[in-house]
Amino acid sequence: MGSIQALRGTRDILPEEVGYWQQVEAITTQILNNAAYQEIRPPIFERTELFERGIGEATDVVGKEMYTFNDRADPPRSVTLRPEGTAGVVRAYIQNSLYAAGGVQRLWYTGPMFRYESPQAGRQRQFHQLGVEVIGSADPRADAEVIAIATDILQTLGLKSLHLDLNSVGTSEDRHQYRRALINYLTPYKQELDQDSQERLTRNPIRILDSKNEWTQQIIAEAPSILDYLSEDSKQHFDKVQQLLADLGIRYQLNPRLVRGLDYYTHTAFEVISDDLGAQATVCGGGRYDGLVEDLSGPKTPAVGWAIGLERLIILLQQLQASPRQVLDFYVVSKGDAAEAQALKLAQQLRHAGFAVELDLSGSAFGKQFKRADRSGAIACLVLGDAEAENQTVNLKWLKSGEQHAIAQADLLEKTDELRVQIERFKSDR
Ligand code: ATP
Ligand code: MG
Repeated sequence: MGSIQALRGTRDILPEEVGYWQQVEAITTQILNNAAYQEIRPPIFERTELFERGIGEATDVVGKEMYTFNDRADPPRSVTLRPEGTAGVVRAYIQNSLYAAGGVQRLWYTGPMFRYESPQAGRQRQFHQLGVEVIGSADPRADAEVIAIATDILQTLGLKSLHLDLNSVGTSEDRHQYRRALINYLTPYKQELDQDSQERLTRNPIRILDSKNEWTQQIIAEAPSILDYLSEDSKQHFDKVQQLLADLGIRYQLNPRLVRGLDYYTHTAFEVISDDLGAQATVCGGGRYDGLVEDLSGPKTPAVGWAIGLERLIILLQQLQASPRQVLDFYVVSKGDAAEAQALKLAQQLRHAGFAVELDLSGSAFGKQFKRADRSGAIACLVLGDAEAENQTVNLKWLKSGEQHAIAQADLLEKTDELRVQIERFKSDR
């Protein structure tokens, strides 16, 4: 029997890569906390109906990509691994009456999402998103705020060659007018459209704008623009969003073909796209979804949000910098029963005092342990042999300078402030 491999479209995030993930988590948590967004952690699987109603049955996500199965309930009950985060957050908002608090809920989430797609670079079957949802405000400032926060996150991470595409898809009434115009325009080209788009022509023609097929794209290039079909109110909202973005110094380009894959969007739609990602170029997608809370049987409540694809974000970070890794303060080397026991205790005491400490567990000769100490990148090495164990001392060696001296273990633990200063000095002239 062969060894068991991970499923296609899933991957292990190994220790050598996880520094990027922790860096992203640390920076995003800080930015979101500063903006008064609160984390929410809904479950990873939900009733299938939530996504059917929330995302729309005509979408690729619901129609082709969901991991759906019956659980063991009797009678059987259909459940789905979440393909995106918004539907679950909105379900939680309604179920827990978060609207009862009044005002605006600013929420964020992160975690794995599941879609049965063709795996390729930047496209997996289990992938991770970070998302925000601002629920309860129709104000264009909410649209501008969420876009500004996405921009802050991407900029703080140092990402370059990103651009923001912006559109308004209006209200469902606006789209009703536009739909008709689009069908009129596309019908004469029907035979030339790709298969999916032909099927969408009557069912969901606006989604044709999202087609990745090149020839379809060319036909669409001349199609009527949704921006010409916006009502006066929709236009005003969109103008205000653009004005606010300009005031914030956030550059964008209008893209009237940007419609996003999910049905629940209204008004503002946007994507942040990278020039450095090849075919899977969209890092962040979002927009306003004023109808969703009501569609899911909650009170009529406007909302706006986005989701960042973390795998794509990390591909970009990898192009910029090495994986951040924890710098060890001490590497502890020991040999002999008494010394090994004391070394474990000393390592624990130093950890409790706030130092990063690795204990060598190999039991191998000192020479081998010293080599590992050098490779560990630690600032200092602590050495305990029989003599040190006997005298309750330890040999402290600064690995950068090679300086070393013996010190009583009790003194070492007393002098943590001095040690910290010394360690910082070595760290800063790395
Ligand atoms: P795409 O057009 O690339 O399929 P989408 O419109 O389906 O994207 P959304 O549902 O808006 O994507 O999700 C937001 C972000 O999540 C995307 O911009 C992308 O960065 C990321 N994402 C979506 N699907 C995947 C996937 N299968 N693997 C990795 N990241 C993904
Ligand atoms: Mg997709």
